[in-house]
Amino acid sequence: MAADAALLDAVQREGAGWSLPELHELGALAGSAGTQELARLANVYPPVLRTHDARGHQIDEVDFHPAWHELMATAVRHGLHAAPWADDRPGAHVARAARFFVWTQAEAGHGCPISMTYASVPALRHQPALAARYEPLLASGAYQPGLAVPDGKAGLLAGMGMTEKQGGSDVRANTTRAVPDPASGPGGYRLTGHKWFCSAPMCDLFLVLAQAPEGLSCFLLPRVRPDGTRNEMRIQRLKDKLGNRSNASAEVEYDGALAWLVGEPGRGIPTIIEMVSATRLDCVLGSAAQLRLGCVTAADYVAQRQAFGSRLIDYPLMASVIADLTLESEAATMLAIRLAGAADRAARGDAAEADFLRLALPAAKFWVCKRTPMVTGEALECLGGNGYVEDSGLPRLYRDAPLNSIWEGSGNITALDVLRALTRTPEAAEAVLAEIGQAAGADRRLDQAAARLTDDLATAAKAGAEAGYQARRVAGRLAVVLQAALLARHAPGPVADAFCASRLDPEAAGGLAGPGIPFGTLPEGLALAGVLRRSSVPTSR
Ligand SMILES: Cc1cc2nc3c(=O)[nH]c(=O)nc-3n(C[C@H](O)[C@H](O)[C@H](O)COP(=O)(O)OP(=O)(O)OC[C@H]3O[C@@H](n4cnc5c(N)ncnc54)[C@H](O)[C@@H]3O)c2cc1C
Repeated sequence: MAADAALLDAVQREGAGWSLPELHELGALAGSAGTQELARLANVYPPVLRTHDARGHQIDEVDFHPAWHELMATAVRHGLHAAPWADDRPGAHVARAARFFVWTQAEAGHGCPISMTYASVPALRHQPALAARYEPLLASGAYQPGLAVPDGKAGLLAGMGMTEKQGGSDVRANTTRAVPDPASGPGGYRLTGHKWFCSAPMCDLFLVLAQAPEGLSCFLLPRVRPDGTRNEMRIQRLKDKLGNRSNASAEVEYDGALAWLVGEPGRGIPTIIEMVSATRLDCVLGSAAQLRLGCVTAADYVAQRQAFGSRLIDYPLMASVIADLTLESEAATMLAIRLAGAADRAARGDAAEADFLRLALPAAKFWVCKRTPMVTGEALECLGGNGYVEDSGLPRLYRDAPLNSIWEGSGNITALDVLRALTRTPEAAEAVLAEIGQAAGADRRLDQAAARLTDDLATAAKAGAEAGYQARRVAGRLAVVLQAALLARHAPGPVADAFCASRLDPEAAGGLAGPGIPFGTLPEGLALAGVLRRSSVPTSR
């Protein structure tokens, strides 16, 4: 899984070449038969809620198969959680992003608490005393599951509670109440209410939103109170979900639960948005990784399967399908690691990279996550009937594929965020266009698309919320042009050429270019061998 040229080159470019030996090690582990079996077991035996003990006391324990714990322990040991926040080396977030990219291909479900733990740190830093107390434990390389006082554990995990029954996108509609409780120490509150989706409820700490007297505020809620007693967070039940089945997602009630204020009271959304933003990066990385896995699995299969006397890949139509998936995967990988590089530099104070991220991240989150179910669906079909059978691993990939799109802002919400960034942060558009401009002159179709995008962004910025109807179109076009610019500069010629021809040039594609077109409709005359080479990594036998 680490023999991925697009990934390895991007990691070098974004300043984390020093991390390649560990990336190879983790990639080999992710692809090993032992890890594949752990992934299977963690999904075949999903978590089970044990609400009461033998004497009828409520315990709210979630039992996981040992395979889950082994996957978690490896992820933490390799620093896929909050470790880069404690690592001063430039590129630490890129190194972590690449490791997340290869490891999530082994099993996506346990990535949820891992990502939330990574993302919790920037939000937690709004309350320096809490950050000083818990950040070292969130970044620790020790995985210690189970109920215990957070301060005494060797390592911690963090979750997030925003969504309530009446609203997930519209979190201002939250009804959970927070009442100041000075007896619980500085910043102490008591929370009463519910959370309709609380993933990974066995985490040690949760960043949650609740209505304080000053308005919606952000809080840190421990699962176990400092005195060792259980906090008043009751698990009602676990969700029976489409995908992400190895992970537990709970409905929870707070009944006067202890929590500490994070950031300013009444400023809950600006505080927790830092967690949302970091998690969005993982949504892009996770989806790009799923694209890669689907693509490579399909490429490997059709290189070996015979039908009507030839290998499937030798039929031009199948070659076009695989090449098209390869283009999508390579573009997604390149964009995801470029964003990780921006996140790394932004975390070290680079304002231009923060501007770039402000616009490019929601656009990429919208686009790459939307493309993933389509690619995995197509990959299934490349394996024929075998792709629809659990043993191939693809049904699990298919069930997991739409998830990153709903997390941290569903498609419409993320696309609308692109418009918000255009209206409120003009420097963000300048940063993205400057990045695209670095590829100027490399490809005529790209130059034309970039000019049109420049006009579109200016129009959308002026129209603001009134451009809402166009939000998906603007976000999608931005992501595709940015991908094309990255490919033009860094990918092999045939890849960049085929991407521009099929995604930017309706004439070359016979009117079929850009969003909404099924895969395998590449224009004629492309150097497909140079594209197919990028996904020809054997994954089986
Ligand atoms: C497996 C899983 C795990 C999850 N884990 C967590 C968790 O740990 N913590 C947590 O807080 N949440 C979690 N969520 C919840 C998730 O974040 C929400 O489901 C998501 O934010 C959408 O909110 P909603 O379900 O209330 O949908 P709604 O907000 O009701 O949206 C419904 C639809 O309407 C669209 N829509 C909403 N507003 C607009 C608008 N203004 N214009 C156009 N379209 C609009 C949305 O895009 C969406 O398609 C999880 C969800 C899933 C599926």
